[in-house]
Amino acid sequence: MVNKKPSRCTVKTKAGKPCTAPPMSGQPFCVMHSPLAKAIQIKGGQRRAIFDPKELKPFTPPQSAQELGALIAQTIIEIRETKIDTRSANAIACLASSFLASLNHGEIEMRLEQLEKQFAEREARANGGIAR
Ligand SMILES: [Zn+2]
Repeated sequence: MVNKKPSRCTVKTKAGKPCTAPPMSGQPFCVMHSPLAKAIQIKGGQRRAIFDPKELKPFTPPQSAQELGALIAQTIIEIRETKIDTRSANAIACLASSFLASLNHGEIEMRLEQLEKQFAEREARANGGIAR
């Protein structure tokens, strides 16, 4: 009885071509096409699985730093409970920084506008006083 070992992996690639890698000893497939490799790939995929947004606490768009703080605090909890993936959490953190910068910018714009208005009013009063 001759147990002929295949010289090449017997699995076809995703492209439909036969795999050219040498098989593992006593196996008809290479390391990459072994059941263990498949199991590792599946496990890796599960770790990176896209989170289910239904699992997350719903929030309305934040209007203030305080509201954003509540959303960030909840996101921290959801990371710890693995309800959200770290990639999405990183995106939220990045957007939160932009949001805070935007809030600061908006507040400075508002204060400057008020000062310009006050200055214009004083100037108008002073000019009005001189003219009369
Ligand atoms: Zn193979």
